[in-house]
Amino acid sequence: MAEANVNSSEEEFYCFCYQCRLKFINSRLFFISISSDETKFTCVKCGITFALGLIVKKSDFDDYYPHCCEVCGMRFRTSNQLFHHSYHHSNNWPFKCYFCQKGFPFNCRYKRHLSPKTVQCCKCSESFLGNFCPARVFDENDEFKCEKCSNDNEPLDLTLTS
Ligand SMILES: [Zn+2]
Ligand SMILES: [Zn+2]
Ligand SMILES: [Zn+2]
Ligand SMILES: [Zn+2]
Repeated sequence: MAEANVNSSEEEFYCFCYQCRLKFINSRLFFISISSDETKFTCVKCGITFALGLIVKKSDFDDYYPHCCEVCGMRFRTSNQLFHHSYHHSNNWPFKCYFCQKGFPFNCRYKRHLSPKTVQCCKCSESFLGNFCPARVFDENDEFKCEKCSNDNEPLDLTLTS
């Protein structure tokens, strides 16, 4: 008897673990708490199995996120979001970190990835604030040039060009 209930809900509902449900906290979707002693539910987002979680009606969810990625099946609210997500698959990011090659859909995200550090210009010896990838390891052989001393023939990889 109990099994019949679970089977029917698996067809009509998406199951989410508590952690993944938090990603939808701002949506107006209606989540229902579920728990079971025996049956393990599988989170559709992260794939973990759980006994306590939440379900949401498939039709509601698909209406709310009508744009579906053909590659991985992730759903999005706007075609723009889906478009930005497609970079994950194509790796054709409009912005890439010069150092670690991590990709970003927007310049502001890329800027947030970098952290400022004061370094000394090897030409004029003036200190200036550069933006560097957090993965970058500095050593004394590094040579930095301030914006003034960098000429157009050399790529300016330390300070951001917008
Ligand atoms: Zn999950
Ligand atoms: Zn995808
Ligand atoms: Zn980086
Ligand atoms: Zn300089």
